[in-house]
Amino acid sequence: MASNEDVNIDPAGEEVEVEDDDDLCPICRQLLHRPVVTECSHTLCELCMTEWADVSVTSQMTVVPLAERPEDFVAANIQAKCPMCRTMTSAKRSSEVEERVRRKYPGVYERREEEAVRDEAMKEVSVETLTVYIGNTVIPPGGEDERGLFDWEFFVKISDTSVVNEVEILLHETFKKPRLVRWKPPYAVRRLGWGTFIIRANVILKYGYSWISSDAEDTKYATKASLPLEWELCFDDGGSQARCQLKIKKESRLVRSSRRILESGSNSG
Ligand SMILES: [Zn+2]
Ligand SMILES: [Zn+2]
Repeated sequence: MASNEDVNIDPAGEEVEVEDDDDLCPICRQLLHRPVVTECSHTLCELCMTEWADVSVTSQMTVVPLAERPEDFVAANIQAKCPMCRTMTSAKRSSEVEERVRRKYPGVYERREEEAVRDEAMKEVSVETLTVYIGNTVIPPGGEDERGLFDWEFFVKISDTSVVNEVEILLHETFKKPRLVRWKPPYAVRRLGWGTFIIRANVILKYGYSWISSDAEDTKYATKASLPLEWELCFDDGGSQARCQLKIKKESRLVRSSRRILESGSNSG
């Protein structure tokens, strides 16, 4: 393409870079910034993908060997619904596209970069990936046990427990205490029982954190802070577990302001 199509002269006599429609992010309608390309061939800004991709738990729950631990699993590409075509996809940073738009519109790209850095600092938002395992182990009834009870342990394992406030576990209502709250790991419950049923667990994040997931629910105190999970007990082969990966957002502004209150409190005293 001829360069005079890309460069206009504004009334002040300065060169103005005019972006081609193809080089704009379809979400924010600005020049692609830190572009990612999805498996469904959509190109958008990394931040736009993170903010708009619909990451649901059910779509990516994968049964994995019982022995796999959160620390064993290296965060790969999270499967998410493409904000453009709604198909399940993953996105990769594209240095090719980045280089191309950076070369084509150096001024605009630099401005986008500066804006992004400023926004990140202003909003003080950071995104972290969490790997969550949900499952159970089981010991089948022994020969001497005439009651035929299965000795099972349900668990939720999380790759970073420092962001978790509590895990609420909801058993079948026929149990004496069907609702249990675990304030620290292990987030688990062990019981004896005859049959399998669906256990619900709500993973509730600490104040200032929220789940980036369409499945997340509000708590009394914070929006999108609770992630409801479901697991059907498995009494075969010593148990089973499933893995999913999700992103959480941290708003450090909240942490910052509470610290300020503490500081001002100590100054006045
Ligand atoms: Zn964008
Ligand atoms: Zn797509």
